[in-house]
Order: sequence, then structure tokens, then C-alpha cells
Amino acid sequence: MGAPPTRPADRAFTRPRRRLTAAVAALVALLAVGAGVLVGLSTPAPRPADAPEGEFSAGRAFRNVEVIAAEPHVAGSAANDRVREHLVGTLRGLGLQTEVQDAVAPEAGQLSGAAGGATLARVRNVVARLPGTDPTGKVFLVSHYDSVQTGPGGNDDAAGTAAILEVARALTTGPRPRNDIVFVLTDAEEACLCGAAGFAADHPLARDGGVVLNLEARGSTGPVIMFETSRNNAKLVEIFGKAAPHPVGTSFAVEIYRALPNDTDFTAFLDHRFVGLNSAYIDGGAIYHTPLDVPARMDRGSLQMHGDNTLGLAREFGRTDLGDLRAGHDDTYFPVLGGLVRYPGWLTLPLAVAALLAVGVLGWLLRRRGRATAGTLAAGFGLTLVPVVVAPLGAWLLWAAITTIRPGYAELLDPYRPVAYRLAVVALAAAVLFCWYALLRRRVGPAALAFGGLAWLAVFGVLLAVAVPGGAYLTTVPALAGALAGFAALATRRDGPWPVVAVTLAAAVAVVVLLPPVVLLFPALGMGMGAVAALVAVLLGLAVLPVVDLLHPRAGGQRGLLALRARRLGALPAAAAALAAVVLAGVGLTVDRFDAAHPVPTHLMYALDAGTGKAAWLTREEKPQPWTDGYVDGTVSVADDFPGLGTTELRGGPATAAPLPAPKLDLLSDNRSGDQRVLRVRVVPQRPARLLTLHVDTSTATVRSASVAGRDVPVEPGDGKWGFGVVFHAPPPEGVEVTLTVEARGGAVSVRAMDASDGLSSVPGFRHRPEGVGVVGSHSSEMLAVARTYPL
Ligand SMILES: [Zn+2]
Repeated sequence: MGAPPTRPADRAFTRPRRRLTAAVAALVALLAVGAGVLVGLSTPAPRPADAPEGEFSAGRAFRNVEVIAAEPHVAGSAANDRVREHLVGTLRGLGLQTEVQDAVAPEAGQLSGAAGGATLARVRNVVARLPGTDPTGKVFLVSHYDSVQTGPGGNDDAAGTAAILEVARALTTGPRPRNDIVFVLTDAEEACLCGAAGFAADHPLARDGGVVLNLEARGSTGPVIMFETSRNNAKLVEIFGKAAPHPVGTSFAVEIYRALPNDTDFTAFLDHRFVGLNSAYIDGGAIYHTPLDVPARMDRGSLQMHGDNTLGLAREFGRTDLGDLRAGHDDTYFPVLGGLVRYPGWLTLPLAVAALLAVGVLGWLLRRRGRATAGTLAAGFGLTLVPVVVAPLGAWLLWAAITTIRPGYAELLDPYRPVAYRLAVVALAAAVLFCWYALLRRRVGPAALAFGGLAWLAVFGVLLAVAVPGGAYLTTVPALAGALAGFAALATRRDGPWPVVAVTLAAAVAVVVLLPPVVLLFPALGMGMGAVAALVAVLLGLAVLPVVDLLHPRAGGQRGLLALRARRLGALPAAAAALAAVVLAGVGLTVDRFDAAHPVPTHLMYALDAGTGKAAWLTREEKPQPWTDGYVDGTVSVADDFPGLGTTELRGGPATAAPLPAPKLDLLSDNRSGDQRVLRVRVVPQRPARLLTLHVDTSTATVRSASVAGRDVPVEPGDGKWGFGVVFHAPPPEGVEVTLTVEARGGAVSVRAMDASDGLSSVPGFRHRPEGVGVVGSHSSEMLAVARTYPL
């Protein structure tokens, strides 16, 4: 090392080569950690159909995927009957006690149903039981076997259903578990979660509750994420971390999930006495609920991961004493390099406060050591808000620009091939951060800027701990690691290797904690909310600033020409990242064009008033695609004519009336006492219908109570003309009986009946979609509705 430098603080790493070596070593280490994170989030290799019988084989499970998802099989359809027969046959073939629960069930949770009324369905759940040897409770493996009307549900949820069949097979090959294992393949999940609600509320096996493992898919690929738990989850999460071979899950996901409009059967179980875990793979969301959700599009690695985890968990819960799985608290948990780290939720706030204090002390030390002044620390803190705000804003603007160039993206959850776009957002966030850093580094100083980043991470940690506790670890842990690294760096010789080692270790912690959410938020939220991923990417960037700093020549070490060169060099990362963002956005636009295999999604419905002979084309597209635009010419409100289609404004245009009958309304009895009437009616579809609706004009009568197919339904006054309504999915051909107790206003009671089927190809005036134009994934695409008003 030669003679000791007289002023170590200024000489260390001023030698460019040594500083460069340190930078390269630190970056290589971080890249290795990042690669490890990505490996931890990857799916396992699918096992072949001849894998040992005690194992889960995606190859075997996939055969069932092909049978289940051979065609669209919406609840109530003949195709769904065929799927159910296959499931019953397969489970009975395994020697399991298997039955079909045939019931009328109300919806779970608060789904969009009838305004001021109720949503129900006729459901047929497939239920099989593997009796335990000495049960302490029941373990329920749950998936839904129905699909949406627009697609065959190759992933959603043939993946979960086929995985459960394969898990059932594997469980029956080994020694019997201690606890009962119940396989629940639900019906009408897509319509209203009604199958799960009916099972959880009414089935004898559900009476004492138990542990539910719900399997879902909202896409076609990616890791299976355990994204939702019941409350007080510490014991469940402990078992998840121990027994799932690929435990990808985070307490932050629950908070994200609650912000999304999706819902699953798990909700129905949580409404009752159940605890449990909810898992799904979510990448490849472009095909979600569309005709493209076919078996061939399934990533069998995702299927293998679903099955591996479910089998591991079923075996573990199968032997655990289920007496008390409810802990007194929730855990914070997150994936770390293929494992799961967890700590009790009550530590969240103390940890967040500790991180804030530690960062505060670091600032005080930096000032004492002359590495920063009160002014630069304040500037570092204030100016750190710039990238935190600008990067998400930039990501939002970038996507706005891309959707202007390609408007079809507006109706897609995520582009078909989103990788380049995601990388463009990350590059943009990096460009913003690097540019900001290059501009401020000399004026504010690296120490003060690093402090600013840690300070905001710590502040966010406290805010999250109060508002979104499950997500507080995201910023608390990196802030704490960064502060400790700062202490270590200040406590060791500045010209030695330890400061670099310390800041690199802290940066590695930040990569481990914050890279998974960057990777997973893109598929979870879609490119339309890529700004959220950009925000997390910036937070990650702030946490690794001290390593980024090594790329820059030492601050204050140069004068004159050397300083100028240093400034130019400092601008290099920013320029490179900005260029990458532009290039990647261009690559995305080039790679992800709409074509026959990746069509632009369009939404179209047809609605006929059989009483007046008036018909309309309707779309939910806000800016109709060229194909859709051929049908619609303006905004319409359907609330008065088709209350069964909801109250939102749609785009519409005139259509030719099809010779289709409205549902028939038979008045079975009408008992009057005073101005109160008890009307018993039967609504009978006159054609194969996926759903029936019945609405009452509340200006003609006030509904006091109502029952549907013998079930009492809640009566709450709704808005508009049709203030009370009932939606009934999968109605039987003989119709549905509805009893209304009303206070009549003197004249006839006006009720409106509607039914809906799927498929528009036989409607007069319908033109088939050209190649490259597809059907949007929604519960109303291709719907054909016929309505009529009846005076009673
Ligand atoms: Zn679905």
C-alpha cells in the first residue's frame, strides 16, 4: 500500500482505477444478488407425465386442463355439465367419496349485481372427501371449474382445477393424512362467486370451517403468488414458508389486491368460518377472460408451481393440529432468494420508528464528521422528492404516449408481450434518478443525497406502518440496512475496503427486498399503472445510491479540466438509461403488434326490447375501436331500458330487431290485503339463457320483501326507475320463481324481465371480426339481451 496518506479522507479512492475496481466489484455483486432474486421468482421445470406417483406432475395435470378447457363452459351451460361429469368421474375413480351439491346460492361479498337487489345463481359444486385417520379439522382445496362465457378458461381456472385433481391423485397414493381433505370444485365463480358462497354457507362439510387453499390464475404464466390470507395469519404463513416448495408471497400483495377490482372464491370462504391462503399466477394477463385463454397458452411451469405448493401445503396441513391456526396477529412476510422471511406484524411500527431514528442519527454523524452540513442534509432530503415524483409521472406519460400510438391497449389488462415496455419503465426511472444525481452530486454532495434517500425510505416506512402495515417492510428494511451501513462506513477507515463493503451489503438488502415488487407489480397492475412499479424502482435506486456513487469520480477530488471530464462521465449513466428507455419503448411497439394471434380486443353487446321492437348495439369501450365504431354512434344510457345491464353509460347505436322472445312472466298468485300485494311469479326464459333479471319499477310499488327460488333476498332501495332488481345466473330451463311483497300505488305494478345469452353471430347485421380483431375479456362481451315490461 506504500506510505500512509496524510489525509486519508481525501486520498482514498481518488485514484480512479481503485475506485473503478470497487465500483465494478460492487455492481457485479449486486447483479449476482439481482439474478438470485429473479431465480427465486422463477417457475420450476414442469415434471413429465411419468413422474413418480407421489409427486405432482404438470404433464399429468395438463391432460385434465385439456379436457376441462376444451371449450367455453359458463355456469349453467351444457359444456359445463360435461366438465362436471369429467370431474366427478375422475374423483370417483380415485376412490374418493364424491357428490354434487346442487343449490341456489346468493353471491359472496359485494359484487356488482342488481342495484338495490340481489344476485343469485343455480350452482352445482363438485365435492369430494378424503377422510383423515384422526382428524383435528378439515383442509379444503378449492378452485372453480366454470369459465367465462367468452373463453374456455384454459388457465382461469382449469389450472387450479386440474392441479387439485392431480394433488388428489398424489394424496391417494400415499399414507392417509390425519385430517380430512375436502376437494371443492366450485361453480359460477365467474358470475358471482355463488358456488363458493353456497358451499361455505350451506354444505354440511363446511359447518365447522377449516383451512382453505384457493387456487386461481389471472393470466397464463409467471410465478404463483400467495397473495391473500385470512386475518391473524402468523401460523398459516409459518406453515406456508415451511411446506410450500416455492414460497413466493408477500404481505404487501394483500394490500395491492384489495385495491384491484378482481375477486375470488376465497372471499366467500372468508365471509364464513374459514382461514386460509389464496394463490394465483398473474403474468400474461392479456388473455385473461378472452377466447385466447386456451390450454396451449398455459405455462406449465406455473402449473407445476401451483401443484408443488398445493401438494406440499395439503400434506402439511393434513398432518398439523388444526385446532388453532388463528394466531393473535398478522405476520409481515416477503420472498428472499427462494425462501420466505417473516416477522410479527407488531414489530412493524417499532422497526419503522427505529429506522427513522437510525437515519436521523446518521445525518447527525455525517454533519459532525464534516461530510455534510445542515443545509446540504436538508437539501438532500427535499430534493429527493424530485425523482420520487418525476419517475412515476414519466412512466405514466410514457404509457399515455404508447396508448396514443396504439389505442387498442386501452382495453387490455397488459400488452401481449409486455417485457420491453416494463424494461422501458425501469430504464426511464433509472434515467430520472441518474440525471437528478448527476446534476446535484457536486452541489449537495453524495453523503447528503444518500441521506435524503434513506430519510424518505424511513419516512415512507413509518407512513406505511400506520396505513398499510404489510407493505412497510419494503422501505423500512432498506432504510435500516442503509443507516447501519452508514454507521459502518463512518466507523472504519475511509480509504479501506470496508465502507464499500458496507454500502454494497446494504444495497444488496435493498435489491432483495425491492426487486421482487418491481418485477411483480407490472403483471399485478398492468402497464396502465406502471407508474407504481416506477416508484418502487426509484426507491430501490435511492437505496443503492452509495454504490451508484462509485461510478462517479470522487466528489471534490478534481479541479479544472478534470472536473469537467468528471461531470461528463457523471452524465453517462443518465444518458445511457434515457436512451435505453426510448429504444425499449420502440422495441415494445415493434414486437407487440396486433395480429391474428394477438388481436386488438373489442367489446360488443346486443340488446332488444321485445315489447317495442327497438334494438341497439352497445359497447363498453370508451373510445371504440374501428371495428366497434361501425356499430355505435354515441353515448347512451341503458338504465331505463335494460336495468339488467347496469347503470353506467355505454356507447350505442341502432340495430335491427331480431325475432327473439323475451322471458315469459307467469303470474302464479296475487294475494291482496289493503294496498299490500303478494305477487308470486315465475320467470321463464324462452331460449337458452345464461342469466335472468327481474326489476320492479319502484314508482309503481314499494318492495317490502322478496324471495327468489325460495331464498329470502335483501331489499334495499336503489336509485333510478327500477329501484329493485334480482339477477339470477345459470337459470334452469323451467325458470325461476320470485315472490314479491309490495305496497302498490294503486295502478298496475310494472316489472321488467330480461334474459341474456352469449354469441352475436346469428344477430341480423352482425359482421364477423376480421383477423387481428378479438373479443375483450369481460363478463358482458358478446352478450345478447332481450327484455320486456309486464304490468301486474
Ligand atoms: Zn376468472
